[in-house]
Amino acid sequence: MARPASAILRRFVKLETTRLSASGPQGRATPAPSDRVSPVKRDRIVIAGAGIAGLVAAAATADMFDEVIVVDPDSLAGQVGAHPPRTQLHNVLTRGQRHLEALLPGFRRRFLDAGGAEGDVCLDTHVYEFGGDAFGRSLGLSIWSAPWESIWGAARALLPANVQVRHGTTVAGLEAHGRRVGRVRLVGENCTEVMDVAALVDASGHGSRFDRLLDAAGVAVPRVERQRLDRWFITVRLRRPPGMVGRPDFWMTFADPPHRQVALMSPLGSDEWDLSVESQEPFSTPPTNFEGVLAFLDELPGPPLRPVAEAATPLGPPAVFRRREARWRHYEEIDTPLAGFFPVGDSFVSTNPVHGQGIGVAAWQASILRESLSTGVDAAEWTQPYLKAAGRAARQAWDLDSVPVPAISISDWVTLGQGMAANANLQRRYVGIWHLIEPVSSLHHLVRAAEAEVAVRTEGPR
Ligand SMILES: Cc1cc2nc3c(=O)[nH]c(=O)nc-3n(C[C@H](O)[C@H](O)[C@H](O)COP(=O)(O)OP(=O)(O)OC[C@H]3O[C@@H](n4cnc5c(N)ncnc54)[C@H](O)[C@@H]3O)c2cc1C
Repeated sequence: MARPASAILRRFVKLETTRLSASGPQGRATPAPSDRVSPVKRDRIVIAGAGIAGLVAAAATADMFDEVIVVDPDSLAGQVGAHPPRTQLHNVLTRGQRHLEALLPGFRRRFLDAGGAEGDVCLDTHVYEFGGDAFGRSLGLSIWSAPWESIWGAARALLPANVQVRHGTTVAGLEAHGRRVGRVRLVGENCTEVMDVAALVDASGHGSRFDRLLDAAGVAVPRVERQRLDRWFITVRLRRPPGMVGRPDFWMTFADPPHRQVALMSPLGSDEWDLSVESQEPFSTPPTNFEGVLAFLDELPGPPLRPVAEAATPLGPPAVFRRREARWRHYEEIDTPLAGFFPVGDSFVSTNPVHGQGIGVAAWQASILRESLSTGVDAAEWTQPYLKAAGRAARQAWDLDSVPVPAISISDWVTLGQGMAANANLQRRYVGIWHLIEPVSSLHHLVRAAEAEVAVRTEGPR
């Protein structure tokens, strides 16, 4: 019977430990006298960042390493750190839901118990996009929504027992041994610790500084691609009017291209809503109060959202967040990457938040990491396949930004809308693009299929 990959991996890292100890710490920088050096141990993974990417990476690797250490300078108890505001509404779509549940069994139950909302797509979702209403039928897909802190809390509660999470600690240095990860330097409030690692995950988010650490360690750094966003996001929490309590409805309105205004209203528990409005500077300036948010809704096309929002009671002032750009660090292009180094989540690719894909991509990449670690016994064998596959996941989310325009013309959108109303499979595949289960490249094929569908309906079969 084949041995489980994790057992082979452990045997390898233990052998490696013995060999390195016997031959002495060649090529290692001498730690400063005040540094505490941990015992040499190769079966350890350090994860930089305890955001959602860090937590899913920990879940993915927990049974493959004896020690799994997640570090983060943020306490995650006080004010906002580098990650999105804790109260910011986050949607999780089908691809992300599947990976979260696979990595953290019981996630959906815990998420719902914590007040997370789940809606049927497109029975509970009222979507207006590209000039038309989405046809209301069930596609066998769902949407989850909750504030970031609830999603993070559900993931944190389900982490396996061998995962240590150390707050107030930063990965501040990295040392390569040849072409593989060797040691990391952790800096806490009162001490610095240098430890040997078999693997290192960069889950330090959009503002990751690991390219500097890689450069300082003398290894290849990724090319960075940027998308200009200049977007602002406003969230208001609302108490629903009595007649709407307990209803599963979501409303999503996207301005007609080339405009970029978006409004999303989602359930928060059974008696609140989260209203998020988003736009791009300099075309719109963010409203500063609830009246301004209602005026923003008036400018949107489609079924009026203002009466729904106006009937509710705001529970606080609007919270504003800005994101200037999306970033893709192209690790997948590096020919000789640092073996054992794995970027996951926003540190690899931070996409346009409007598309609601960050958590899904992080969970997808964490699943790829798990799979890659199971395929070989050597860090060099894990790294290339991981980076290539994680890069493909990044591509799928990144390309969504090109979907509205100019990928297909306005008249093609109209045809696609008509085709989808007539054919549930077409609609499921189109919506599947946004749920990351269908590639963006199928869009043109779907338009042609919609044309054929519309022709059959208007002219009859030939
Ligand atoms: C306004 C907004 C709305 C969004 N909406 C959605 C949505 O609807 N759906 C969705 O899926 N995604 C959404 N996203 C994206 C989503 O929040 C992220 O993609 C997701 O949370 C993954 O983030 P992360 O863990 O990679 O990074 P982060 O959440 O930024 O976490 C990185 C962590 O690393 C820590 N760190 C930094 N440097 C170091 C270091 N050197 N050592 C150790 N730790 C370090 C930071 O303190 C931080 O806690 C949205 C983002 C924004 C800004």
